[in-house]
Amino acid sequence: MYQPTFGMALIENELKTDTMKALVLQAPGCLEYCSVPVPIPGPGDIVIRVRAATTCGTDLKAFLRGHPQIPMPGVFGHEYSGTVVAVGNGAPFAVGDDIMGVHSAPCQECRWCVNDQENLCESIMATKVLGTYAEFLLIPERIARTNVFPKPDSLSFEQASLLEPLACVAQGVMRIQPKPQMEVLVIGPGAIGLMFVAALRRAGVQSITLAGRNLNRLEVGEQLGAKSLPLEQVHGQFDLVVECTGNVEIWEKSLEFARRGGSLVLFGGCKAGTQVRFDTQRLHYDDISVISPFHFGTRAVKMARSWLLHPEFDLSPLFSGNRDLADGEMVFRDLEQGRGIKYVFHP
Ligand SMILES: [Zn+2]
Ligand SMILES: [Zn+2]
Repeated sequence: MYQPTFGMALIENELKTDTMKALVLQAPGCLEYCSVPVPIPGPGDIVIRVRAATTCGTDLKAFLRGHPQIPMPGVFGHEYSGTVVAVGNGAPFAVGDDIMGVHSAPCQECRWCVNDQENLCESIMATKVLGTYAEFLLIPERIARTNVFPKPDSLSFEQASLLEPLACVAQGVMRIQPKPQMEVLVIGPGAIGLMFVAALRRAGVQSITLAGRNLNRLEVGEQLGAKSLPLEQVHGQFDLVVECTGNVEIWEKSLEFARRGGSLVLFGGCKAGTQVRFDTQRLHYDDISVISPFHFGTRAVKMARSWLLHPEFDLSPLFSGNRDLADGEMVFRDLEQGRGIKYVFHP
């Protein structure tokens, strides 16, 4: 039977309320700051007090035009870190633990999971964490058991909240297997492109060019260790090209930048129904490897966490400031206009 346990007096107070403030996505373009019920953990589940919740490009897409995996109306947000305030029977954490985690977990039993393709698990979205833009968050048992970890004091709650997008990048890096001498081009200086820069630097890659239009974001790329250029000014060919824009024309163009025998990673997902055309001669006679990794498995989550815990790995240049939940709609309007990279809510 479920027996909630409570820690410090303050936390106990917080959970005595059965409503909480949250940012609810009502419909595309409409975010409402309102009161909703506090979630109650079932067996194996945990409930956390959200300490940091970061904005994400997926959230922006959902805000602008809806998203098949994000129900409306529903409490918004999927990146988080926090402190456990209530646990279900048999949960792997205790009240008071600081944790970091991602929003999904593979079953580890289906055909894809046993074939080391957990990112394609047939039920990866069966249980998911949604609603991090709220005071409290329920993390279901499968995720709490598989993809939630202790957060050490040395890591800020803000940076811990980046575990999920960084796990996507780690999935790509595992496929690429970067070498220090590689010449790399990253196209698209959004949060994912910038995290690729940081991750490839961590992997020892010396020469990274970041291409894009937004000058503020290119500047952040330089802080993370890349040379930056407008895409029109990029010349030559690279051992590895990582496309992070999700723009069909850029997908097509990015092949031009891969050298003979090089690799092209098409990372930014495009709109459903779109198609691209590639020069077959280049693909075949220049033997260019093209991959398009999606989502992440448990190994990528662990890799991302190990980067975050490394003292020299610092993603703080990605943060564009702290914002109030009550200003949620304004925050996404800013992101729509290309102002800022990632904002942080401290609900
Ligand atoms: Zn995300
Ligand atoms: Zn599976």
